[in-house]
Amino acid sequence: MMFGLMSLGAQAQEKDSFKYADESFADIQMLRYKVEGFDELSLSQKTFIYYLYEAALQGRDILFDQNGKYNLRIRKMLETVYTQYKGDRNSADFKALEVYLKRVWFSSGIHHHYGCEKFVPGFSADFFRSALKSVDAKQLPLAKKQTVDQLCDEIFPVIFDAKIMPKRVNQADGEDLILTSAENYYDGVTQAEAEEFYNKMKEGAGDQPVMFGMNSRLVKKNGKIKELVWKEGGLYGSAIKNIVKYLQLARPYAENDQQKKVIDKLVEFYKSGSLKTFDEYSIEWVKDLNSRVDFCNGFIESYGDPLGLKSSWESIVNFKDLQATKRTETISSNAQWFEDHSPVDPRFKKEKVKGVSAKVITAAVLAGDLYPSTAIGINLPNSNWIRSVHGSKSVTIGNLTDAYAKAAHGNGFREEFVIDKEMIELLDKYDSQTDDLHTDLHECLGHGSGKLLPGVDADSLKAYGSTIEEARADLFGLYYMADPKLLELGLLSDKDAYKAQYYSYIMNGMLTQLVRIELGNDIEEAHMRNRALISWWAYENGKADNVIELVKKDGKTFVKINDFQKLRALFGKLLAEIQRVKSEGDFEGAKALVEKYAVKINPEIHKEIKERYSKLNISPYKGFINPVYTAVKDAKGNITDVKISYGEGYAEQMLRYSKDYSTLPYINE
Ligand code: ZN
Repeated sequence: MMFGLMSLGAQAQEKDSFKYADESFADIQMLRYKVEGFDELSLSQKTFIYYLYEAALQGRDILFDQNGKYNLRIRKMLETVYTQYKGDRNSADFKALEVYLKRVWFSSGIHHHYGCEKFVPGFSADFFRSALKSVDAKQLPLAKKQTVDQLCDEIFPVIFDAKIMPKRVNQADGEDLILTSAENYYDGVTQAEAEEFYNKMKEGAGDQPVMFGMNSRLVKKNGKIKELVWKEGGLYGSAIKNIVKYLQLARPYAENDQQKKVIDKLVEFYKSGSLKTFDEYSIEWVKDLNSRVDFCNGFIESYGDPLGLKSSWESIVNFKDLQATKRTETISSNAQWFEDHSPVDPRFKKEKVKGVSAKVITAAVLAGDLYPSTAIGINLPNSNWIRSVHGSKSVTIGNLTDAYAKAAHGNGFREEFVIDKEMIELLDKYDSQTDDLHTDLHECLGHGSGKLLPGVDADSLKAYGSTIEEARADLFGLYYMADPKLLELGLLSDKDAYKAQYYSYIMNGMLTQLVRIELGNDIEEAHMRNRALISWWAYENGKADNVIELVKKDGKTFVKINDFQKLRALFGKLLAEIQRVKSEGDFEGAKALVEKYAVKINPEIHKEIKERYSKLNISPYKGFINPVYTAVKDAKGNITDVKISYGEGYAEQMLRYSKDYSTLPYINE
């Protein structure tokens, strides 16, 4: 599982000239992240990271191919024209091709990374055909004996015909989700055939099943259905062979024997494709808690498969942020105090609560399905039985949230939506600090607090369950954000800091999160529903005391908070009620709360907020350019240092990756 961006905070002055915000195109803004602390690592740790970084980049082509069977060829055609075209590079057609190529790089394919719909090219087919015919044909991904015209005839419908492969992942109920999705996880099979194939496998698998189907393409050939497994010597074998090579080069620099075991199991899995081995690897990985450097490299998340079985390839290499991790450890080790003092009915409290010690990490490189668009937190492994028997590791990626916040500073968002100068100043000062702390309280304590009454089914809230659960965790954090205990523990630096969090939370929940929703639609996503629920409930229930006001200035709506302490009391009251709903499995209670406060949007406010936001020209999606690591070697080839640099441009980086890390053939089976 992974989690995304919660709110767009911003932090005070940048200390140096490092530029967090880079170029924008289409609906994307590119950012950079800083790998703070890399230079202080030991040579051995740096070398370890360097080889893992190479292993991460070697897998890039896999995701392109998983996202669609023509993606690698289309990328190569576009790149060849982009680098070699001798015609007018300022023409509208060429400029549109450049934007299209940047989007293809960003999405690892021809469909939107988030919405999954196919891109509409802004250049003509005629232009592209003549441009392809003008470049060196040897650079083009031609099939055997294929002419450039034949290549165009084969590929152009995929690019230009809106009816062909319109969606990467189709989730529309009632359609054959496999036949109508363009991802490349299935070939020639229907949804019913795939489900039957895997249901049969699951029968009799016991209570510790492997994740069936996770690492293969399911194909039907000559009437027979079989899996083509992604492994060395199998499908994607040439990329995997390179990944394995760099994992093995990294191995001697692992920090301890446990970490060596992790690498050995991962290599064994890549060589055999055995899912049993993958489970063994996951268990070893969960146990590796003492290493400073950590990494994922493999088939991890299944959001790209409409059936949720096949895992996309990704990699992240990271190291622990020691100072920030101290913060989460402080919270965790005081978990019982927080549970005992919560405003919840004692019947619903845990007698013994164990805080989750989420660590804060610094990302060193992002790859595959984490690049350029990325999660800001990860909780793995995904296997349910391993999570319950062996636990999981939960991380938040500190240098990425930091980069988002710094890049957002000065984009005009606060000036537009925050009520007055005093509040803007308070947010500039404390919002980044309290945002991080709220996330920690939510993850380390909120989700783990409270208990169900005996005999209550964990699923009794059904479709309302995740909204209620997120609200519970958020409220736990909000309630304690204003507690003097946080000052005492050294987690907050000022007694008024919590006000920044309260203000931005309510503003987001009532107003600004609406910018992500189309006019006329309801709120659907659980985290968004939870924020609306908390904010509008507090607004309605605080009305008698005028706790929160919506004020109009020059025709614009603003949130005004008149009494922060009363707002805290309201959060406590709602937390107690939400915990009761959860503990008793009160479906009707959950339904009433969610339907009343969290689903419907006031259409006038919605329209106003979206109009104000669109004037700011803020790109709705962001992604990151990686830093470049260079190994310094002595005459014998030993690494004597690893240098990090940040200057590489977006197109430059993508072209270099395509040149140095094209590990798969353009035509795969
Ligand atoms: Zn949560």
